[in-house]
Amino acid sequence: MISVEEAQHKISERLAPLPSELVDIESARGRVLAEPLHSDRDLPPFNRSTFDGIALSYQSIAQGTRKFPITGTAYAGSPKVVLTDLDSCVEIMTGAPVPDKANCVVKVEDLEIKDGFATLNDGVELSEGFGIHSQGSDCPAGKTLLQPGCLLTAKELSIAASIGKPQLLVSRTPRIAIVTTGDELVEISALPLPHQIRRSNDLALQVSLQSAGYRNITRHHILDDLAATKATVQSILQDTDVLILAGGVSKGKRDFLPEALENAGVTKAFQWVSQRPGKPLWFGDFEGEGKPTYVFALPGNPVSCFTCLHRYVLPALAEVSGQTPGPSQFARLKCEFRFDPPLTLFLPVMLSGDESGRLWADPLPFNTSGDYISVARTQGFIELSRSESIFPKGTSHRFYPWSV
Ligand code: AMP
Ligand code: MG
Repeated sequence: MISVEEAQHKISERLAPLPSELVDIESARGRVLAEPLHSDRDLPPFNRSTFDGIALSYQSIAQGTRKFPITGTAYAGSPKVVLTDLDSCVEIMTGAPVPDKANCVVKVEDLEIKDGFATLNDGVELSEGFGIHSQGSDCPAGKTLLQPGCLLTAKELSIAASIGKPQLLVSRTPRIAIVTTGDELVEISALPLPHQIRRSNDLALQVSLQSAGYRNITRHHILDDLAATKATVQSILQDTDVLILAGGVSKGKRDFLPEALENAGVTKAFQWVSQRPGKPLWFGDFEGEGKPTYVFALPGNPVSCFTCLHRYVLPALAEVSGQTPGPSQFARLKCEFRFDPPLTLFLPVMLSGDESGRLWADPLPFNTSGDYISVARTQGFIELSRSESIFPKGTSHRFYPWSV
């Protein structure tokens, strides 16, 4: 049996990023950027007025002039106008280019405009550069604005639009297949016989993946049959980047997955991890035509399955999608917790915040790894190291949120 850290390492060392593709910016939301984006010109590209008012030379104000003849009007979207005389002014609108010789904008609220003259109101305080958003002050031309690996949401896409990128290079979306196994499992709409249960893991896996942004998902269910399992796995492998199986991976007499996967040509990297829940976790890869398929076989118990998805599969998917990982979250135990077995414990917790912004984790007392009803009251789990058995109140542990 290997440790959680070893399992994590054996997965990471096999993962390679998916190739990239060009997509229209209109359909790039939720994709991972695969190229750096640079500003194509200074931002703002010209000295722009930040107010509606007048533009003029500050020197004339400093010399005591309060009344200025208006010699023109500068509109947003019109070419830059000229300030002919340093003792005159032009009317200017927000977003319009400021004339070359002007270095101050006075707000319309601070003026009186009458008979072709603008007069400053008494007590108006001004300075050189006031009211001007100067060229390049947000960023100079050529600066890197976004790095590969960033997730494209509205704010990143607005940057891409502003620098003239109608198409973007993004990582290809992983093709994911979910395969559940079990003779006892029936459809959601079925009325189960006394010995049957309705399937729920496949839906839980699919919805978690969708909320993490993965859309390219197929679902399959197979009975506990070696030949059928092998045939299904073989038929899916070639067109799948990440294969997630659930159930049939433990030591039961009809747990055929490890054998079926190896028969289908998947190379096992490991099985059995010193963790609870999720000990039977199996991971391997398949070398298809020019590209690998990563195969995770998760235990069927709903809590084990859900926990292993969040602890191993979602981070692996982020990595193959080229996504830069966000900061890890940590939470403090709200009470002392004891756990003796030499296993890493993934402990479901109810999370709360205090006034200093610290997160507190209140452990859920739950029965078995099958108790998915209680887990629904939690927001995620903390990871408690197998090297200790007493975890004092207030100690900080890595927190993994459930996808929402
Ligand atoms: P297994 O890992 O196949 O031994 O399954 C362990 C437990 O999880 C059994 O009680 C199964 O009935 C249950 N289980 C397996 N797959 C699913 C599923 N797709 N939905 C709900 N429960 C499942
Ligand atoms: Mg089973």
